[in-house]
Amino acid sequence: MPDSQTIYADYQATTPVDPRVLAAMEPYWRDSFGNPHSSDHVMGWEAERAAADAAASVAALIGADASEIVFTSGATEANNLAILGLARGSLRGRRRILVSAIEHKSVLAAVRALEEREGFAAELIPVDRDGFVRLDALDELLSDDVLLVSVMAVNNEIGTVQNVSDIAELTRAHGTLLHCDAAQAPCGMDICDLADSTDLLSLSGHKMCGPKGIGALYVRHGLEDHVEPMIYGGEQQGGLRSGTVPVPLCVGMGSAAELLAGEAGAQERRRIAHLRDAFLSDLLSRLPKATLNGPSGADRHPGNANIQFPGTNAQDLLASMQPMLAASTGSACTSGIPAPSHVLRAIGLAPEEADSSMRFSFGRFSTATEVKAITVVLEDTLPT
Ligand code: PMP
Repeated sequence: MPDSQTIYADYQATTPVDPRVLAAMEPYWRDSFGNPHSSDHVMGWEAERAAADAAASVAALIGADASEIVFTSGATEANNLAILGLARGSLRGRRRILVSAIEHKSVLAAVRALEEREGFAAELIPVDRDGFVRLDALDELLSDDVLLVSVMAVNNEIGTVQNVSDIAELTRAHGTLLHCDAAQAPCGMDICDLADSTDLLSLSGHKMCGPKGIGALYVRHGLEDHVEPMIYGGEQQGGLRSGTVPVPLCVGMGSAAELLAGEAGAQERRRIAHLRDAFLSDLLSRLPKATLNGPSGADRHPGNANIQFPGTNAQDLLASMQPMLAASTGSACTSGIPAPSHVLRAIGLAPEEADSSMRFSFGRFSTATEVKAITVVLEDTLPT
């Protein structure tokens, strides 16, 4: 998978839907299509039960209760609901928000909007060369006027797996709430008790072999009354996110969560780490100028390899490998001007080093043959 001439090494951008997930979703498009909020008839009850079961499966993945799960359209919405919702909610008084320098744009842009339009102070927590939050710096920034800290569990570009419980220890000491963007975490680490360390946590269906268009926000019990909704309407999902719950997508996300829970997930991560390590050792021995960005130890997403190819422009390099390879470069285009990845800049790379870096990410359907073939394609394409 996919059955084409393209080698797919972009699992951190999105994943294919697992056929088992697709099969679980199928009946809810056509047969059990009732509105889960139709409380007067059996078809509504059936759909409501399916959505509730899906919430329970998502909750079980992170060690939460089903009643603490709010389905959203994805992690972008979940991040926005967590940050904007909390800032606009009833916990007034604290006006500072701290986020790590390597957060996803959906976190960075949300706190920037609060700063520009709603009088909050948003500050960046620095990271070290491997992308780990500098706990000493966080400790110094924290004080009793900090409402929220937002730190991602697993970075989408360099794969850094943060120690969320160490961060939680610091935030709790100041009565500060902790939001964790865990969009990349289900395939990257064991998250069976991640909810214990956090107050709010975001997930995305399409990063975990589930469907696109669905995500979830975990809202710790007791906090729900302090989060202002972004979408108003029929008061579904406890009023936190109005709108008819998309049952087939919820079922898909629930099924994806079940497939990743427990030993199955651990086994998958071991297999993928093995593939990624083989890829790295092959690539770094055959292309001696290439170097690895980010952490090299166990605290890295098992499928992530972010490689610098000195003297190249990664976007041009990737363009010249079409249609053979789907991978990713971190550079973003803001207002038509390409800018080097803020993540690679935050870990200390110069702009030209960031621009020469490419992310390869492997997942459930990646094979040893594909991984080997990537190095061959690269060898054939790179200037000698
Ligand atoms: N956070 C992280 C860390 C991500 O990698 C992504 C997807 N690139 C998102 C948030 C946004 O997720 P979604 O596509 O579900 O909105």
